[in-house]
This record gives sequence, structure tokens and C-alpha cells, in this order.
Amino acid sequence: MLVKSLEKLSCDVLVIGGGGAGLRSAIAAKLGNTDVILTSKTQIGPCSNTNISKAVIAATGWGPVDDDENVHIEDTIRGGRFLNDQAMVAKVAERTHSEITFLKDCGVNFDMHEGMLQVLKILASIGLKIVDGFSDTDRMFTA
Ligand SMILES: Cc1cc2nc3c(=O)[nH]c(=O)nc-3n(C[C@H](O)[C@H](O)[C@H](O)COP(=O)(O)OP(=O)(O)OC[C@H]3O[C@@H](n4cnc5c(N)ncnc54)[C@H](O)[C@@H]3O)c2cc1C
Repeated sequence: MLVKSLEKLSCDVLVIGGGGAGLRSAIAAKLGNTDVILTSKTQIGPCSNTNISKAVIAATGWGPVDDDENVHIEDTIRGGRFLNDQAMVAKVAERTHSEITFLKDCGVNFDMHEGMLQVLKILASIGLKIVDGFSDTDRMFTA
């Protein structure tokens, strides 16, 4: 809904920002049966870091079996030069696999290879750090 007049709106959950974080939060709130308003200062979808990042997403469990949460946590903490909030990193790592499933269920088109998600290795990562690349980032959330 585009709001052009200065009417008062009310909601249970107000999400500010139309990038990946905001859109995912809004979906979660809506699935929780709340009345949600999402507001963004730029166009939702194309005008965000989420879009220009090309959505190469670090996620475990889609490639070799020894790629797991601990690999993800270690890579993230090393990549962050040990400045990360490590409890937060562990929390994020817990959900990477299921979030890819969620995005697939939402209709996001991941790059596929022989019927499986395309899995890449990041050069700077230890061991078997795995990422999944989208081929059509600009439509990933607005599809
Ligand atoms: C080139 C590049 C490569 C990257 N590569 C990776 C990668 O390989 N792996 C990885 O995990 N991450 C990567 N990232 C980081 C990742 O893309 C971001 O951390 C993530 O997309 C941030 O999502 P977000 O929703 O928090 O912010 P954004 O996607 O930036 O969304 C913020 C939204 O908030 C809106 N907004 C801002 N201020 C206001 C306001 N005052 N009122 C209303 N709306 C507002 C903006 O318009 C925008 O829509 C990369 C980023 C870039 C730029």
C-alpha cells in the first residue's frame, strides 16, 4: 500500500527498512498473525545493500557433509577479525540452513547445479565454507 496522504495508521509491528532484514522481519511478524506495516525510505527491493550484495549467502548444510554450524561460526568470527558478538554469530549460524529453505519456499530462484543448489567456496574461508548464489537478486524478495 502506498500512503500519499497524512492519515494516521496503526499496527502491532512497525518495521523500518525494506532490505532483507526488514522484509524477513515483516514476514515473520505477519506469520505470527500480527498487523504489520513496513516502511522504507527507498524503493523496496532494488534500493538496498541486500540487492547490491548479489545475495551470495553463507549457509551451511547444502554441500559436503562436514560443512556445519561450527565451520560457519569460525569463518564468521575470523572474517570479522574477532570483533563479532560471538553469541549473535552462533544464533545466526543456527538458522542459515532453514532460512535458505524458507527463501526457496518463498520462490527465490537460487542458482542450481544438477538439480541441487549451486554451492561455492569462499577463498578466505577455512575448510568447506559454503555459500549459495542467487542468479536474479533484484527479484529475490519481490518475486
Ligand atoms: C557489495 C556488497 C557485498 C556483500 N556481500 C555479502 C556477502 O557475500 N555475504 C553476506 O552475508 N553479506 C554481504 N553483504 C552484506 C549484506 O548485503 C548486508 O549486511 C545486508 O544486505 C543488510 O541487510 P539489511 O536489510 O540490514 O540492510 P539493507 O539491505 O541495506 O536495507 C536497509 C533498508 O532500510 C532503508 N532505510 C534506511 N534508513 C531508513 C530510514 N531512516 N527510514 C526508513 N527506511 C530506511 C533503506 O532504504 C533500505 O531499503 C554485502 C554487502 C555489499 C554492499
